[in-house]
Amino acid sequence: MSEETKNPITEKIENTKGGHFYKEIMKDFRIKESLHGCLNCGTCVANCPAAAFYDYSPREVCQMMIEGDEETIEEYMKGKIWNCAQCYSCKYRCPKENSAADIVMAMREIAVREGLAAEALAGYTRIAKLVLTRGNQLAPDMLSPDAFPDWGPRMIELSSKKMEMREELFEGFPGMNVVDRAWAAEDYTIYEMQKIWEESGALEKVGTVFPFLVDIVQEDMEDKAEEMDAKIEEKKAKLEASKKK
Ligand code: SF4
Ligand code: SF4
Repeated sequence: MSEETKNPITEKIENTKGGHFYKEIMKDFRIKESLHGCLNCGTCVANCPAAAFYDYSPREVCQMMIEGDEETIEEYMKGKIWNCAQCYSCKYRCPKENSAADIVMAMREIAVREGLAAEALAGYTRIAKLVLTRGNQLAPDMLSPDAFPDWGPRMIELSSKKMEMREELFEGFPGMNVVDRAWAAEDYTIYEMQKIWEESGALEKVGTVFPFLVDIVQEDMEDKAEEMDAKIEEKKAKLEASKKK
């Protein structure tokens, strides 16, 4: 859609008396491309994995934005939007070319900014800590069917055989049953990411949801910086010693 094209749904922002959260979402650049009216046909819901497992509906996401229903919008921002898997099935099947996925993405950013996300995201603390300090988001032991019902029956089957499968794969491997990360990232890579999060303000945003994680990340950065400095000094000393030989 070109800049000049009128979108009667998103133009409502200019006339609406809707609430604060509604107006903030409508200002987001993605909304004009994502909301074109709704037939209430339910096609998006029928294809939505989140709707199948949670109290969540992409149809309702579009409807509440068209209506400017502040109460439902706030309810979604405090909890339901975090159920969306961002798979975009809704976008590619909607006869009106709506994208609940993009609306949800905008709502998530605003929910974090407005301090509405802390309670809904409390269960993700361990994942956030892993991402921020080790560079990846999951350890295999965290894949529990209770936490991910939308991953389906295969996950239940795999999870129940997890220990046996490890024993077959890694017989005699020390620490076989203690896996704290999905894959290893180098310290300098993690440190670089942490610096980017800090300099870009992303770490500050994380602090609105997980305040204690900011201190943990900053301490981790100091430790990593000291270790990296020590390694550089060690390399320099080796180089000097080799020159003297
Ligand atoms: S992107 Fe979200 S709302 Fe859309 S179908 Fe996937 S899970 Fe459902
Ligand atoms: S598929 Fe599109 S038109 Fe149909 S209910 Fe969902 S958002 Fe509305």
